[in-house]
Amino acid sequence: MKRHIFLAAAVISALGFSTGLQARRQLLLVSDTQMNQMGSEAFEKLKSGNKLSSDKKKLAQTQCVVNALIAVLPEKQARQAWEVQVFEDDSPNAFALPGGKVGVNTGMFKVIKSQDELAAVIGHEIAHVVSQHANERVSQQTLTGLVLQGAGAYAGSKTSSNNTQLLMAGLGLSAQVGLLLPFSRKHENEADILGQKYMANAGFDPAKAVNLWENMMAVNKNGSPPQILSTHPDSKNRIKTLKERTPGLMDNFQAARKAGKKPSCF
Ligand SMILES: [Zn+2]
Repeated sequence: MKRHIFLAAAVISALGFSTGLQARRQLLLVSDTQMNQMGSEAFEKLKSGNKLSSDKKKLAQTQCVVNALIAVLPEKQARQAWEVQVFEDDSPNAFALPGGKVGVNTGMFKVIKSQDELAAVIGHEIAHVVSQHANERVSQQTLTGLVLQGAGAYAGSKTSSNNTQLLMAGLGLSAQVGLLLPFSRKHENEADILGQKYMANAGFDPAKAVNLWENMMAVNKNGSPPQILSTHPDSKNRIKTLKERTPGLMDNFQAARKAGKKPSCF
């Protein structure tokens, strides 16, 4: 009985609100600081375990697109230092991690046809970070583990990052858990909506988000499906949503251009 009370208390104190478009309740058990730490550690591992591209042009193009997008993020993320890397890898993939990390594979440049399409994929990835989707996913997994283990590990704890760390270690979760796994349909939808808005606000053509995912689907048809489609499922609904939302974002796009936001990255 006692441990159920502790579990309930922990969950209630950790409920937060999404920074996305629609306010919804999120289960956020992990502190920002710790999520940033986990993201940074995962990024370091990816950097040491994979080949970084020596293509300075691609890196500069990616950095330029990221800079334009960062400028329109909520203040917390806009003030953060973002690290950008291009990985030497033929599969068209991109990701963003808590802690201000963006990675793009060289293979992505074979799929995209403009800076706007690169902004579409990076905007989507950054939107996952701003919306705290990894935190939510880690929290859900942690909670599942807690329930399975009878919540004993949580007894007597206060929800601090230290306790969460102990809890994660106790559950045998690695530093990367929840960071590079597939997102849910709800998370995908939120990232699509928010990412496309970031694009428009940064002066990228929001209509090009549709082109990006159509190009990605074409790669899917011609050969083995790109990894990004397995970690970001639901492509058909995505294209439909992006098409529907484009007209409503044209004002944002025009206003951004008028305000001098005219990224020239490619
Ligand atoms: Zn996604």
